Amino acid sequence: MAGSFVRPSLTIKLSVDRFDFDIGYLEGPSYFDEPVFRVLIHELTHFWQTVSMNFLVKAALSEWRQLIDYETSGNTQSQNRFEDKLEQRDKTSGLKPNDLLEAHALYWDVSILGVFNVKNWRNINRSMVDVGDRKIQRSPSSPITSQSGGSFDEVMLSDSFYSDPYRMLHNRTDSFFAALTFPIVVYFAFQTDDPVIAYTEAVKTIRPLVDGIYGSPDLEKRQEVYFLAIQSHVMRAAETKGLSFTEPRAVLTDLLNETNQSQINPLLLHYAAKMHTLEEQAKQYGADLNRYFALCGNVQYRKELMGGGPMPPLVQFADGEWPLQAMINQFMRTGAYDETENDELATIAKDIGRRWSSYRIAAFVAN
Ligand SMILES: [Zn+2]
Repeated sequence: MAGSFVRPSLTIKLSVDRFDFDIGYLEGPSYFDEPVFRVLIHELTHFWQTVSMNFLVKAALSEWRQLIDYETSGNTQSQNRFEDKLEQRDKTSGLKPNDLLEAHALYWDVSILGVFNVKNWRNINRSMVDVGDRKIQRSPSSPITSQSGGSFDEVMLSDSFYSDPYRMLHNRTDSFFAALTFPIVVYFAFQTDDPVIAYTEAVKTIRPLVDGIYGSPDLEKRQEVYFLAIQSHVMRAAETKGLSFTEPRAVLTDLLNETNQSQINPLLLHYAAKMHTLEEQAKQYGADLNRYFALCGNVQYRKELMGGGPMPPLVQFADGEWPLQAMINQFMRTGAYDETENDELATIAKDIGRRWSSYRIAAFVAN
């Protein structure tokens, strides 16, 4: 693997030496014919998922409790591990929550990088990719190809591991509707404690909604129409299955009200504060943050989430840590970001990453 997202340290790890940006990267990563971009985009989606989906914040909190428990008592046999639910397969649908997350990340890989690149890189991304220290520049040969619904479907439906969730929605609706709404359904399903049940129930009962949306006369404002409709549809589906639906991002921002904050992963607290600021700004401008996170790969929203400064992720390269924000800094030549803060964060993330690996090794040896 050329990269991974490590939840306890909220860090994207790339198995390459650091690389430099060329202008235009944020606007169009697909123009840069480098496999490492696919990995970065993919892991970036996992970061956005983690800070915006209540289910994943609960998993991160559970992992932190285990780590502290291990460090204070040597215990490696934790009970009620929330993150184990990610790998639990639902008997009826055959899906596990992790399949949904990966399908969601694949959706953004394909949407952002394009069908052509994802197809070409499919095999490359499972091995090491070394770009060395050179500056990545737009490849003159990289094609700017338009993609059709057919080619989008082909790549979304042919992944050997993660096509099942998308296929389910595609079969119940149609090519266009599935492409429009898949990330929204997944995003809201992950605000419950059983995303697979919420997702499959929402998909099973979606047909009348599809007809209603297609029949809507308000086509100019199509996103306004379908986004809120999908949101309430998933909420209702969760409720009919007896699941409680939590306000998106509430679990993360509620951490700021905890009395004993020393018991919480400091990186989660950091992003909780960032999220709080973002929520306040959004209120001021009347923006709907659910759109930003549900459609995190959308060109407008991803620029806000990544380049706008609210919360770029920590990125650790093979030769040490290198926070993405500092890189963006360098690239944008603006003083709007605080590089010192990122150095401190990188130090904390490195420490947590190291402690987490020791715990995982101890747990593996003991069990
Ligand atoms: Zn992934």
